[in-house]
Amino acid sequence: MRYSEMFLPTTREIPSDAETVSHQLMLRAGMIRKLTSGIYSYLPLGYRVIKKVERIVREEMNRAGAEEVFLPAVQPSELWKESGRWDFYGKELLRLKDRHNREYCFGPTHEEVMTDLVRNEIQTYRQLPKNLYQIQTKFRDEIRPRFGIMRCREFGMKDAYSYDVDEESAIVSYQKMFEAYKRIFSRCGLRFRPVEADSGNIGGSYSHEFMVYADSGEDAMMFCTSCDYAANLEKAEISEPEKAPVDESVFLPLEEVHTPDVRTIEEVSGFLGVTPQCIVKTLIFTADERPVAVLIRGDEEINEAKLRNFLGCDNLELAMDDIIKEVTDSPRGFAGPIGIKCEIIADYSLINMNNFVIGANKEDHHIINCNIGRDFSVANFSDLRMITEKDRCPRCGSPISFARGIEVGHVFKLGTKYSKAMNATYLDRDGKDKLMVMGCYGIGIGRTSAACIEQNNDKDGIVWPMPIAPFHVIITPVNVKDEDILKTSDEIYRSLEAEGIEVVLDDRDERAGVKFIDADLIGIPLRITVGKKNLVDGNVEVRFRRSGEVEIVPVEEVRDYVVAKVREGLGETD
Ligand code: ATP
Ligand code: MG
Repeated sequence: MRYSEMFLPTTREIPSDAETVSHQLMLRAGMIRKLTSGIYSYLPLGYRVIKKVERIVREEMNRAGAEEVFLPAVQPSELWKESGRWDFYGKELLRLKDRHNREYCFGPTHEEVMTDLVRNEIQTYRQLPKNLYQIQTKFRDEIRPRFGIMRCREFGMKDAYSYDVDEESAIVSYQKMFEAYKRIFSRCGLRFRPVEADSGNIGGSYSHEFMVYADSGEDAMMFCTSCDYAANLEKAEISEPEKAPVDESVFLPLEEVHTPDVRTIEEVSGFLGVTPQCIVKTLIFTADERPVAVLIRGDEEINEAKLRNFLGCDNLELAMDDIIKEVTDSPRGFAGPIGIKCEIIADYSLINMNNFVIGANKEDHHIINCNIGRDFSVANFSDLRMITEKDRCPRCGSPISFARGIEVGHVFKLGTKYSKAMNATYLDRDGKDKLMVMGCYGIGIGRTSAACIEQNNDKDGIVWPMPIAPFHVIITPVNVKDEDILKTSDEIYRSLEAEGIEVVLDDRDERAGVKFIDADLIGIPLRITVGKKNLVDGNVEVRFRRSGEVEIVPVEEVRDYVVAKVREGLGETD
């Protein structure tokens, strides 16, 4: 393409409302523009990248045996009521009504529609397994859209759904997607890691998120420094500590102490002169309307995903003041396990604690020297807290490390959650009705492109990896008024186009400096500079965006030289 004819509005200023590098650079490089909160238009340069990511995704999905379909974006509420998600999905679901007052939603995901299609068309085990995917626009009314297309409301997603006869076969389908995802993100030039992720409390389910390493990422992950274990923080397991034998001779007498205006762990610890490790926090949650007291050591944090799974509830929140009053007979800040009027569960951190401090269920009072067994009992101990740097790998016991990341893809083994709710069955060999076993697999197309910029940029702009670069090569004639320069540039341009290379000819009548700045900003991997100084000797300069290295190449060799470099960058070997 000729730059002078392109719709490529680049800017020098850093947009003030863009917090992340990828958001800033996508705006500055003229890739995207905001229409309204969380809703973006893709301009030609941005759309070229999207198409390239989509192409890689398609190739790998097809290679893995999935078939492409295209489902409606607008979905009738009946299907969502059948699956039970119409009420559960809450405000993220964009709900619409037609002229007959019938309810619909704009799909945030397509389990219902796909399962409806499959249950109607697939009757017997002979038609299974099936894996169907689409690349489509989703809408999620995110509470806080941010970082441009990284977390927006309308976005392109590849979503796939697999249907299998049984658990074993479903695991094979899952593995195929897992491998396909590894290939997709490698081909996009990303440094990433699959991590175990929370899959809620559905039977037979598990999941992995594909995390792209980025300090700006919204997600945190932990990984073992010696074995393969890696998980997002919600999921990261903590092993049950070994229980020391109970020695009641060390138990001190229980004592109530007056602690005026002392509520938080810091305040209690300061007032009583004990470390937070000697205090037990009692947190009261409402789990689907039912109050539960959760005990955890004072220096640890509750992991709500773990707690929700343990309790098997859909809705979990910290209890309101009236519930606290009801179960503790005291205001917020003084809850404790002795005499509390609800079920008590405890995190593993309480195992082996003796003579600890608790709330007294009485305003301005705490109790010291409390001991489990003697003073109260716990219904269940479980892993309910957030992992920290001092924890060890739950698999091999080695030290662990943390990193931040961007979730670009998610593979999820669903079990029979949707097939059961929606009665998606098939006839097995013996003519019996059986539930299909499902998996679902998503990739954010825009988020993947943005994540790539987070990992590939420098002070001058984007540094695209060749496979998803909007163009492979940019030719920069230093002075378009010079006939020789323009003619040579044009010839190189045509010769590269003829080879199938995606090339921009910067034919604008601008100073060379301006053109260099734009070329660096939009991040084209190779730049061919055609200038008087080299041309006198029959040469041009080829510059590599990533390393900044330059090669002086004879004009008659530049086509072959550049074609070889592009193919190398695309991972194609002749
Ligand atoms: P998140 O935890 O980031 O909100 P999610 O777990 O809700 O994402 P999934 O339902 O697993 O997302 O969707 C599959 C993929 O779609 C994600 O891995 C991500 O790449 C992409 N995606 C999800 N939400 C958004 C969004 N608001 N904007 C852009 N991409 C998104
Ligand atoms: Mg997810």
